Amino acid sequence: MSDNSFNIESLRAQFPILNQQVNGAPLVYLDSAATTQKPQCVIDAITDYYTGYNSNVHRGAHSLADKATIAFEAAREKVAKFLNSPKSEQVLWTRGTTEAINLVAHSWGNSHIPEGEVMLVSALENHASIVPWQILAEQKGAKVVPIPLTPNGDIDQNAFTELLTPNVKLLALSHVSNALGSVNPVAKMVAEAKAKGITTLVDGAQAVAHFTIDVQALGCDFYVFSGHKLFGPTGIGVLWGQEALLNAMPPYQGGGEMIDTVSFEGTTFNGLPFKFEAGTPHIEGVIGLGAAIDFVNSLDHKAVAQHEADLMAYLIDKAASVEGLTRIGHAEHQVGAFSFLLEGAHPSDVGMILDQQGIAVRTGHHCTQPLMSYLNITGTIRASLSIYNTRDDIDRLFAGLEKAKLFLL
Ligand code: PLP
Repeated sequence: MSDNSFNIESLRAQFPILNQQVNGAPLVYLDSAATTQKPQCVIDAITDYYTGYNSNVHRGAHSLADKATIAFEAAREKVAKFLNSPKSEQVLWTRGTTEAINLVAHSWGNSHIPEGEVMLVSALENHASIVPWQILAEQKGAKVVPIPLTPNGDIDQNAFTELLTPNVKLLALSHVSNALGSVNPVAKMVAEAKAKGITTLVDGAQAVAHFTIDVQALGCDFYVFSGHKLFGPTGIGVLWGQEALLNAMPPYQGGGEMIDTVSFEGTTFNGLPFKFEAGTPHIEGVIGLGAAIDFVNSLDHKAVAQHEADLMAYLIDKAASVEGLTRIGHAEHQVGAFSFLLEGAHPSDVGMILDQQGIAVRTGHHCTQPLMSYLNITGTIRASLSIYNTRDDIDRLFAGLEKAKLFLL
């Protein structure tokens, strides 16, 4: 946190993609929940790696390999600090949130979810934190049980407490809902579950770009996120875990790097974190994510949070006065995503007309089909905000919606 004077213009200038016309109008990017845009420093870090020191990491006998390894492992340290992890060995590289959850389901799940036992997930989870547990449940004869929601779209806390029966072995929760933007009370829920001996996984995909994460304060067993939702590249993500759990888990994939010794008589495995990192890793992805964390650390977090809260309040306020607009989800604490419907118009038609005006939103079920069924809808229009958005972007959205109404209603 170095710069206390939050200046939106200089911040936007760091994101070259924002400065362009789309379909004849200046781009308004309201799809950061799907992926965030990348600052120049992240793009430069990746270019520098390829132009200056491209090399495979670890065990290299030359200077380029040393430089690549140092940058690669420095990024792990940065992620460890970002999450307030006790040790950097607890940070494992994955392809993203989805692969991190699948890793836990395969490696931990295989030996910890016996037949007849239960995995609890909230009804608003992303498919990434439903389907891996369902596959595991199918293999083990176990069950995935959803925690119901309140009419506001929040996780029903009374129902949750009642569901914490002795046969529950896992609680998987998103920190922030990607469809509704609701910030879930994960610390409280994790504490309740841990008190009953239940293992907990928090999906931080939508949280990491919006507030400070402290895995020790959260008290969870696993925390997962994707680099591309945190101003970093695609194809890189993080599985953070409690050291004892990770040490006890079998490898997820076999190959080079994850071994200690290999022979036809038997193979022994490497220690953390390498035991879970078979094969050549996504080196430029890791280096890009390290640069993204440097970028986040360079921001005045308080000023950025205030800017984002101001934008969300402005958006919610403006939406309330639009005739025919129904807000979907009314969480008390909402960040990033804002979902809505326009009476008489299909979300995908609205999305198309907004795109014609240079306004990028996302429409559909947002990989949360069970949530959509729960709300009795097939999808929403979702505008999602990040640090580089402005009130002007929101004004453009609402002007665009008025045009959509003229075409569609
Ligand atoms: N969980 C949540 C809450 C998400 O929003 C997403 C992506 O939108 C994912 C998981 C999956 O992330 P990825 O596709 O980067 O693996």
